[in-house]
Amino acid sequence: MRVYLAGAAALVLVVVVGGLMVLPGYVERGTNTIIPGEPFVVSDDARALHKELFIADLHADTLLWHRSPLTRADRGHVDVPRLREGNVALQVFPAVTKSPAGQNYEENTGDTDRITQLVIVQRWPPRTWNSLLERALYQSERLHRAAEKAPDELKVLKSADDVVRLVEARIAGSEIVGGLLAIEGLHALEGNADNVQVLFDAGFRMMGLHHFFDNELGGSLHGISNAGLTPLGREVVDKLDDLNVIIDLAHSSEAVVEEVLSQTWRPVVISHTGLKGACDSPRNIRDDLMKEIARRGGLIGIGYWDGAVCDPSPPSIVASIRYAVNLVGVDHVALGSDYDGATAVAFDTSQLAVLTQEMLDSGFEPDDIRQIMGGNVAVFLSKYLPAS
Ligand SMILES: [Zn+2]
Repeated sequence: MRVYLAGAAALVLVVVVGGLMVLPGYVERGTNTIIPGEPFVVSDDARALHKELFIADLHADTLLWHRSPLTRADRGHVDVPRLREGNVALQVFPAVTKSPAGQNYEENTGDTDRITQLVIVQRWPPRTWNSLLERALYQSERLHRAAEKAPDELKVLKSADDVVRLVEARIAGSEIVGGLLAIEGLHALEGNADNVQVLFDAGFRMMGLHHFFDNELGGSLHGISNAGLTPLGREVVDKLDDLNVIIDLAHSSEAVVEEVLSQTWRPVVISHTGLKGACDSPRNIRDDLMKEIARRGGLIGIGYWDGAVCDPSPPSIVASIRYAVNLVGVDHVALGSDYDGATAVAFDTSQLAVLTQEMLDSGFEPDDIRQIMGGNVAVFLSKYLPAS
C-alpha cells in the first residue's frame, strides 16, 4: 500500500511539473498566432530596398511571455533572431502588467486580471504576483539580462545618444538590435507618482498611460468612464515631461488624449493603432485627434491586427498607412505591430519585407518607405529621449 501511494504521489508530481513546463507554451501558442496562408512573394527589388532600411517597431509585448528574447521560438511573433531576419533595428518592448478577463474594445472594468494567472503559470518570482510595479520591473530585468548575455545582439536603449549610436552601428553593417523599454498602462505606478522615477531608473523611456480599463490616472478608451485625466494623471504627465519620457496615448480615452495634448509641450506617440477613417473600429480614436498629435510633432504607429486595420492582410495594413500619410503627413507615420499582444497577424517580424513589397506595389516612393519603416522613429527618439 505504501509503495502504491508513493507511486501515485510521484505520478501526480510528474504530471504537475510536466504541466507547468508545457502550459506556458500552450497558452502563448493559442494567444499570439499567425493566420495560415500562402507564403508571401518578395521581389529582389523589394528585398534590396528592405535590406538598406533602418526599421523600427513601436510596440511588441514579447517580454510578457515565457521564452528568452534571444532564442528563436516556434511560437509568438518576435525574438532577436527573427528581428534580425526581418532587418528590424529598433524594437520597443512594453511591459504589460494587467489585463481584464473578457477583454474587449468597448467596456472593461479593472476588477479582474488575467495576468496574475499568467505570471504564476510562467513561474515569475512571487514578488510579481500581487504587485503591478514588480511585474514591470521584472520585465525590465528580463530585457537587461538578455542584453548582458548577448551584448553584440541586443542593446537596451536609454538615451538619444544610444539611438544615434545604434543608427551609426547599423549603417556600418552591425546587426545589433536596440530595445527600448515601455509601459503599457501606468496602473503600474500603483497610484504613486513617485514610482515614475522608479520605472525611469529601471530603464523605461516610453510610458503609456492606459491599457484596457480606467486607472488612477484617468479613463481608458475601453473603460467605463470615458473620463479625462485625474489630478494624479496631471501630476504624472508633468513628471514624465520633466524626465523626457515619451508619452504613449494608445488605449487612452479621447478625453485623456485631448487633455494631455493641452498640458504637455512635448510631442506624444500613439504606439500601436489604426486610423478611424480607414478602419472604423472602437480601438481607433478620432482622425482630428491624430491630426493634432501629428501637428504637435508626434508619431502614429500602425498595427498589423484586425482591431486596428480591420483586415490584417498586407494590402489592408498598407491602406491604413496610406490613409495616415494622407491625413497627417509622411513624417508622422511609423510601424506599431502589437506583435505578441494576443494578436492574430498575417506575418511575423522575420517576414517584414512583405510590407516593403506591398508599399512599393501600392506606389510609395522609396524615401517615404524609409521614413515610415523606421526613419521617423529614429529621428523622433534622437530628439526627445534624454540626451545621454
Ligand atoms: Zn496594446
